[in-house]
Amino acid sequence: MGRKLLLENINVPGINTFDVYRQKGGYRAVEKVLKGMSPEDVVEEVKKSGLRGRGGAGFPTGMKWSFLAKPEGKPRYLVCNGDESEPGTFKDRYLMTYIPHLLIEGMIVSSFALGANTSYIYVRGEMMPQIRILEKAIAEARNAGFLGKNILGSGYDLELYVQPGGGAYICGEETALIESLEGKRGNPRIKPPFPAISGLYNCPTVVNNVESIAATVPIINDGGDEYAKLGIGRSTGTKLISASGNLNKPGVYEIELGVPVEEFIYSDEYCGGIANGKRLKAVVAGGSSVPILPANLILKTLNGENRLMSYESLADGGFASGTMLGSGGFVAFDEDQCIVRNTWNYARFYHHESCGQCSPCREGTGWMEKVLHRLEYGHGKLSDIDLLVDVSKKIEGNTICPLGDAAAWPVASAIRHFRDEFEWHVSRPEEAMDRNYGLAHY
Ligand code: NAD
Ligand code: SF4
Repeated sequence: MGRKLLLENINVPGINTFDVYRQKGGYRAVEKVLKGMSPEDVVEEVKKSGLRGRGGAGFPTGMKWSFLAKPEGKPRYLVCNGDESEPGTFKDRYLMTYIPHLLIEGMIVSSFALGANTSYIYVRGEMMPQIRILEKAIAEARNAGFLGKNILGSGYDLELYVQPGGGAYICGEETALIESLEGKRGNPRIKPPFPAISGLYNCPTVVNNVESIAATVPIINDGGDEYAKLGIGRSTGTKLISASGNLNKPGVYEIELGVPVEEFIYSDEYCGGIANGKRLKAVVAGGSSVPILPANLILKTLNGENRLMSYESLADGGFASGTMLGSGGFVAFDEDQCIVRNTWNYARFYHHESCGQCSPCREGTGWMEKVLHRLEYGHGKLSDIDLLVDVSKKIEGNTICPLGDAAAWPVASAIRHFRDEFEWHVSRPEEAMDRNYGLAHY
C-alpha cells in the first residue's frame, strides 16, 4: 500500500469533528509553528518539500509564497481556492467533506507563514453541504482556541471566513476568484501583476488550492525533507487523484507520485481495471483542460518507458505524445466511447463557461462547439476537421486566462490522436449517429 499523508485517517469514525481529529494528532502542526517556528522557517520547510500547486498548474508552492510582497501598512491575504469545477475533478470536495479540519489546520499554518491575519476559503457555490461543514469546523477550531485572537497565547491572530463562490467555472481562475471575493463579476484580470504583488483589494495575496494547503500539515509535522523523499524527481509527495469514467473502482485515491499509470488503472489497490471487461481507449489524465491521450500513449511514452503518474512523465513528449497531470482529474474512456461526442461535450462546457472578455475565447469556443456539433450529428464536412485545428490554434496562447488554452487543447489533441474517428463521422454519418455511443461518466 502506498503511503497516505492526507487520507490516512479518512475512515476513522468522526474524523470530521474537532475532537476526533485532535485525538488522531490533529492541530500538532499549528502547535509546532506557533510555539517554535518563525514564518520564514515555515516557508523554508514548504520550499524544501518541493510541493507543487495541486490545483492544476503545478507551480512550486514555497516559491509562490516567497514572491509575496511585504509593503508597509498593507495587509496580506491567503485565499484558499475551493472552487473546484474542472470536469472530472472532485478531490477537494472529498477532502472538505470528510476531513475538513485538515484544511482548517493547513489554513492556520499557511496564514501564519504568510503573515496573513484574515484568510478566506472560497468554496464553489454549488457545494452548500461543504460550506456548512467548513463553517462548523471553523466554529469548533475557534472554540478550542485555534482561531481568533492570540492563538495558543502566541500573539498571532487569525480570522478565517468561508465564502460561497459565484457559481461559474471561471471563478476558479485565481484573479476571477479575487474579483468575485471583492463582490464583483468574476472576470479574470490580466497577469502580471500576479496576486502575490497585487491581489485581493490590491493587497499582496496568495491563492492556493485546497489540497496544497492541506499538504502543508504533513510537511510541517514530518519536515519538508521527509515529504520530499516521497514521490519521484521534482514530483514530490503524494497527490489526490479523482478517478472516473469507465473504471471498475472510480473514486478519490491518494497516490505517491511516480506510480505507473498502468498500475493505477489496473491494480486492485486503485481503479481495478476497465469496467465490464472492456478495453481502454483513451484517458484524460488531469481534468478536462489537458490533452487526451490514446491508451498506448497513456501507458507508455514514445521511448517505450512506463508512463508514470508524475508531472514530468505525463508531460513526456510534449503535446505531440504527452499530456499533463493537471488537477488529477483522471477520466478513462473504454472502447465504446465516442471521442467526437466527448470532445463536443467538453467544447460545449467551455463555450458555456467562457466569460467573454477576449474574442479568441468568446468566439472560438462557440465555433468549436458548433463545428463539433455538426460533425457529431452527421452534417460535418472533411474540411471541418482542419477548421477545428485552425480555430484551436487561434485561441491557444492568445487569451487573458488559461480557459482559452483549456478549451483548445482537448479539441486539438482529440484530432491529433483520433483523426480517423472524426473522418468516419463525415464518411458514415448515419452509422455514427446510430451507434449507441455514450459520454464517459465523470
Ligand atoms: P498559472 O501557471 O498562471 O499560475 C500558477 C500559480 O503561480 C498562480 O497562483 C500564479 O499567481 C503563480 N505565479 C506564476 N508565475 C508567477 C510569478 N512570476 N510571480 C508570482 N506568482 C506567480 O496557472 P493558473 O491559472 O493558476 O492555473 C491553471 C491550471 O488550473 C490549469 O492548468 C488547470 O489544470 C487548472 N484548473 C483547475 C481547476 C480545478 O477545479 N481544480 C479548474 C480549472 C483549471
Ligand atoms: Fe474570459 Fe475566456 Fe478570456 Fe479567460 S480566456 S478571460 S474565460 S474570454
